Amino acid sequence: MPSKGIALVTGAARGIGKAIALRLADDGFDVAVNDISANSEALAKVVDEIETKGRAGSAHVADVSLDEQVRGMVEQVVETYGRLDVMVANAGIAGIIPVAEMTSDKWDHVMDVNAKGTFLCYKYAGMQMIKQGNGGRIIGASSIYGKQAGGAVNFAYTASKFAIRGLTQAAALEFGPHGITVNAYAPGAIDTDMLAEVATEDNPHQAIIESFKKQSPLGLIGVPADIANMVSFIASKESQFITGTQISVNGGTFFD
Ligand code: NAD
Repeated sequence: MPSKGIALVTGAARGIGKAIALRLADDGFDVAVNDISANSEALAKVVDEIETKGRAGSAHVADVSLDEQVRGMVEQVVETYGRLDVMVANAGIAGIIPVAEMTSDKWDHVMDVNAKGTFLCYKYAGMQMIKQGNGGRIIGASSIYGKQAGGAVNFAYTASKFAIRGLTQAAALEFGPHGITVNAYAPGAIDTDMLAEVATEDNPHQAIIESFKKQSPLGLIGVPADIANMVSFIASKESQFITGTQISVNGGTFFD
């Protein structure tokens, strides 16, 4: 199958990002994947899986919170493939920190990775797509908590995901005249390592899963493929009339 285009997915060594990268490869995209250096081995395995599907893949280690590294990552992708058609700014961190323990440094870290990292991905992908002159798809990772605060002790995370709502709308306005759509997905609870890592002795992983299942009228917790299925459509040409939205994929735990 001829390539449908070039996609770049950040935070793709595991979880939702990995599922999106593999789904876009199944859809016919060549896929560049990014993660931090600590996850470079897992990232290389994702590239192997992309190549096994008969598509080109490449790993681009970068910290999305750093301007120079995001600029360099997009440049590398364009050097490798000649263009960029789909940017999925998926990388994010949880930052479940009670107010008394929240310091300015911890606040900055969550905002730097989640909000600034998404802004930088939108910026450098948008500039490249404008230069190419034939549109594109930019997709960010918001959250159910980017629509309404919920759960406890995660106000930096909530603020960072609300920021993604704002910058997705603003970027949709600025990039729209160039035929570039900008949308975000807003997952409810998805069973990934991120969820496992916020578990504590008092609130173990299985208890978190059960409590999220109870919040869904379907009695379900999400899996990474649930988000990848949505991103597959938003990345496609058929989604051309959808922009500036944060699309809920949450099993009915919150209606907006
Ligand atoms: P995860 O922690 O399993 O995976 C995130 C990946 O991002 C990791 O591989 C991590 O190394 C990478 N990453 C972290 N900081 C980075 C940085 N500075 N630069 C590049 N890569 C970095 O998380 P996930 O559950 O797969 O979540 C993916 C996205 O979806 C995140 O933005 C998250 O906030 C969002 N989200 C997840 C859930 C959920 O329930 N899992 C719900 C709502 C939103």
